[in-house]
Parts: sequence; C-alpha cells; structure tokens
Amino acid sequence: MVLPIVHYNDPVLRQKGEPVTVFDAALTQLGRDMVETMHAARGIGLAAQQIGKALQFCVVDLREADPDDFDFELDGSRPPVELFMPMMIANPKITVLPSEKDSYEEGCLSFPDIRGDVVRPDEIEVRFEDAQGVPHVMVCNGLLSRCIQHEADHLNGTLFIDRMSKRTRAAIDRSIKALAEKTKAQA
Ligand SMILES: [Zn+2]
Repeated sequence: MVLPIVHYNDPVLRQKGEPVTVFDAALTQLGRDMVETMHAARGIGLAAQQIGKALQFCVVDLREADPDDFDFELDGSRPPVELFMPMMIANPKITVLPSEKDSYEEGCLSFPDIRGDVVRPDEIEVRFEDAQGVPHVMVCNGLLSRCIQHEADHLNGTLFIDRMSKRTRAAIDRSIKALAEKTKAQA
C-alpha cells in the first residue's frame, strides 16, 4: 500500500525514532509499504518519519542506480544487489571510516523539488538489523553510503537542510519557507 509522504515542516520529521524491538509480520508489512511508497515516488531511500512514524527504521533501494556510483561489502562478502535490495534497515549505527569527504546534490521526498549540495564522509560502516531482526554489518561508499547516512539522519530527526553550508541553505531558503507554509495550510 502506498502511504502518504510527510512534508517539511511536519513535526514528526524532527522526532528521534524509537528503537525497533519487535520484529514481527507487522514490521515486515510496514517495510513493504515503505518500499512501495518509495518506488511510487521514484526515491532511493525512505525513513519511517517520512510516513509519520518516529521509529529507527528505513528502506533503501539502489538497484536502478549506476553500479559504478558505489561499492560495498555486506557481512564480509559482495552479493549481487538484487539479492538484498530493497533493504529494510532497523536500528542503524554508523561509524565513519577514514576517507575523503564528498559533496553531492541531494534531494529528499519530504522536500519536493528542492535540492542542494551536502558534504558527507564517503566511507562508512553501518551495523543494523533487517526486518527479521538478523544483525548485519555493511561497509560502503559512494551513493549507497550517502543514502544510508541521509536516511539514518532522518531516524534521529536530522534533515539534509541541517547539513548544508550556510550559502547553499540560503539559496533555497525561500522554497523551504514556502513548503513549510504549504504543509501548515494542509494540516
Ligand atoms: Zn530525506
């Protein structure tokens, strides 16, 4: 089922997610609905806050992305992306690995038509549980690392606009304010 996507500045986007402790059929169904919602909106990641739930849970799918845009190791091997994407990620814990920082123009499904450059570390290790509660360790870089960092930020109430330089943020300030007004009017 495609769920409505919450737009900025709905307060739920600022809520820190509760840890996932129950890995049941309802969580898997939520994950499936979030994947369907993300695909319908043509996104590559979606966090629980974006469908109105403050939970440490997000989905990611880079099967359509250019394989040259990222590299990874999942639990010590490198399976084809088709085998584990779309990913359902619960309780992600990110460790930044020594690497260059990278600037990239990000978008967000909670900010329709708004984009801006965000600088992030390139390589990370992320420990998480899947929707069945099975723990995993992924080391990744490039677009996959960026996408997971963006989604993990959502789970803590942090948004990509918080990570922009003052100059980038100022350049889109009017669009952000207009979006906040529109969201408020629709509430
Ligand atoms: Zn986002």
